[in-house]
Amino acid sequence: MEKPGIVITGASGRMGQMLVRTILGSDQARLVGAIEREGNPWVGRDLGEAMGGAALGITVTDDAVEAIAKAQAVIDFTAPAATVAFAELTAQARAVHVIGTTGFEPADLDKLRAAARHAPIIRAGNMSLGVNLLVGLTRKVAAALGEDWDVEVVEAHHNRKVDAPSGTALMLGEAAAAGRGHSLDELRTPAREGITGARVPGSIGFSAIRGGDIVGEHDVIFATTGERVVLRHVATDRAIFARGALRAALWGQDKGPGEYDMADVLGL
Ligand code: NAP
Repeated sequence: MEKPGIVITGASGRMGQMLVRTILGSDQARLVGAIEREGNPWVGRDLGEAMGGAALGITVTDDAVEAIAKAQAVIDFTAPAATVAFAELTAQARAVHVIGTTGFEPADLDKLRAAARHAPIIRAGNMSLGVNLLVGLTRKVAAALGEDWDVEVVEAHHNRKVDAPSGTALMLGEAAAAGRGHSLDELRTPAREGITGARVPGSIGFSAIRGGDIVGEHDVIFATTGERVVLRHVATDRAIFARGALRAALWGQDKGPGEYDMADVLGL
C-alpha cells in the first residue's frame, strides 16, 4: 500500500515545524504539502530552506484548496477560524483531518461536526499518550472519590499561548465531571478574581500559569480535609504531540466519516 500523503497547515508555527520533522523522519507517511496563510513570509519559499536546512522540493503555499486536494491526511495545529475553514476543504477532498488546534467556540464545533459527516475528523486537545492515560485515570479517581473531594485543574504553558484554560485542562475537567456523572458545563467554576465567595461543593475549578518556554504541565488536584491526591503530566518536548498526530493520521486512513479522538486512536 502506498504511504499516505500528508499536508501540514501552519507549517511555520511551533507545532507545524515539529510535524514537518516528524513526518520527514517517518517511513510510514509522505509529506506532500505545507500551507501557511496569505502574507506569511514562508509562502513561496522551499519548506526545507525556510526551516534553515536543505531544500525539500515542497513550496509553502497559501492555496489551501490545491494543497489539500493532494492529501490523504491534513494535520492541523493552527487557530480555530483557520481550522474550521480547513475542515470544509478536507471534507471535500475526503481526507482525514487531524486537529490539534485548541480554543474552539461551540459554533466552531458545530461546523466541525458538519464536516465530519463527509470524512473522518480526529480531534484532541492533547495528542500525547501520557495525557490521554491521565484523562482515563482522572475519570476513575473522580468516580471513586465523593463530592467532598474538591477537584481543581492547574495548567502551565509558555508565554505565547493565547487561550486559557488549555484544551488539555478542559479534557481533564470533562473527565472529572464524567466520572461524577455530569457534564463539565454543569460543574465548571468561572476563573476566580476578587471576592468569589466560598467554593461551591462539587464544582471543578481551573487555574492557568503562563511563562517562558513551558511546553505543557497539568495537575488534577483532588483535595479533601486532611489529604490530597495529585495526578500530574509534564510534557518536556513538543515531539510527543507530533508523533501522536501522525499516529492519528495513519489510524484514520481506513476509517469512515465521523468524529474521533485520541482515546479511539490509542484504543484506550
Ligand atoms: P503557533 O506557533 O502560533 O503556530 C500556529 C501557526 O498557524 C502559525 O504558523 C500561524 O501562522 C498558522 N496559522 C494561523 N492561521 C492560519 C491560517 N488561516 N492559514 C494557515 N496558517 C495559519 O502555535 P503552536 O504553539 O504551534 O500551536 C498551534 C495550536 O495547536 C494552538 O491552538 C495550540 O493550543 C495547539 N496545540 C495543541 C496540541 C495538542 O496536542 N493538541 C499541542 C500543542 C499545541 P502566522 O504565524 O502567519 O500567524
